[in-house]
Amino acid sequence: MRPREDRVSIIDTTLRDGEQAAGVAFSREEKVRIARMLDAAGVDEIEAGIPAMGGDEAEAVRSITALGLRARVTGWNRAVLADIDASVACGVDAVALALPVSERQIESKLGKCREWVLRQLRESVGYAKRRGLYVSVGAEDASRAEPAFLLDFARAAEEAGADRLRFCDTVGVLDPFGVFEAVSRLTAVLHIPVAAHTHDDFGMATANALAAARAGATFLDVTVNGIGERAGNAALEEVVMGLRHVLRRETGVLPEKLAGVSRFVTGVTHQAMPPWKAIVGSNAFRHEAGIHADGVIKNPESYEPFPPESVGASRRIVLGKHSGRNSVIHVFQEMGVAITMDEAKSLVALLRDDRPHGDRPTGTPSLLEMLDCLRHRKSVA
Ligand SMILES: [Zn+2]
Repeated sequence: MRPREDRVSIIDTTLRDGEQAAGVAFSREEKVRIARMLDAAGVDEIEAGIPAMGGDEAEAVRSITALGLRARVTGWNRAVLADIDASVACGVDAVALALPVSERQIESKLGKCREWVLRQLRESVGYAKRRGLYVSVGAEDASRAEPAFLLDFARAAEEAGADRLRFCDTVGVLDPFGVFEAVSRLTAVLHIPVAAHTHDDFGMATANALAAARAGATFLDVTVNGIGERAGNAALEEVVMGLRHVLRRETGVLPEKLAGVSRFVTGVTHQAMPPWKAIVGSNAFRHEAGIHADGVIKNPESYEPFPPESVGASRRIVLGKHSGRNSVIHVFQEMGVAITMDEAKSLVALLRDDRPHGDRPTGTPSLLEMLDCLRHRKSVA
């Protein structure tokens, strides 16, 4: 086993796997903008697309390699020489060569055998290395492969000169314990770095990415907002912050840039972000419940795992049926209005009263009337 490396490198595949999400298609300008933002955020590697598709896809990859980014730019390929030629023509620094390793995929998808897989592997890796490329070999469907064959495949990739092995939980079927075991078996014998590519079919993509890091993977695949095939991939923002605050491991990514990249990608995918989405959802730092809001007002650490400013977001105490008196006072204070404890108490009662206004005792102000009255006080002051 190699000594543990503390820094984890981030491979962003928003432009390849992310764009494979149903209903998502980026324009070339959007791809270039996303690549620039990812580079500025400190992502180590950008999987820019599939050059062998030709047309606009290849043009977009070419535009990205022409930017001269600090991040390594990779093209995704089948383990086919013509695909590698297409990547070279786009000027990429690196190629990801994908080959299936599970029986399901080798036999039913390709109608081939393991010997064919190993032959393609040696031939394509040798070819890409001779063309001066950094080579990442992707073991597709590795989570459902026979462990002994996966090891043979990984060793063959290393012997053929690959620079990295990518462990793919292609259909997201492993839990973090399974990922830890499978990736540990690879990192125990390989000398080249291992990357993990995890999908969110059971909501475990980020947990699985972190488990892979614990098992010695030093590269993790992510996409902005977790977009991607089916239920998506491990999310850039979750993996970076999970590594930092859960595993105490660093990446080169600047967390304060995460909100901006996330907003841009949300905008160009035209798909709504769930408010409760980790790190970048609009509710991620909103507090309503009385005890929580009161705790956060006294000390944010009581109900926040890290300060919102660190990811370019901000904290908000919001009023609702779960609010307590201290939250009400705090919210009005922020608007520059001082209210008494009795007023806060009446406001809380109104917030919790779900009867129609007509059913309340006569003379009770409506919630809006009361809020209006308090706001009026501010304008007088
Ligand atoms: Zn994938």
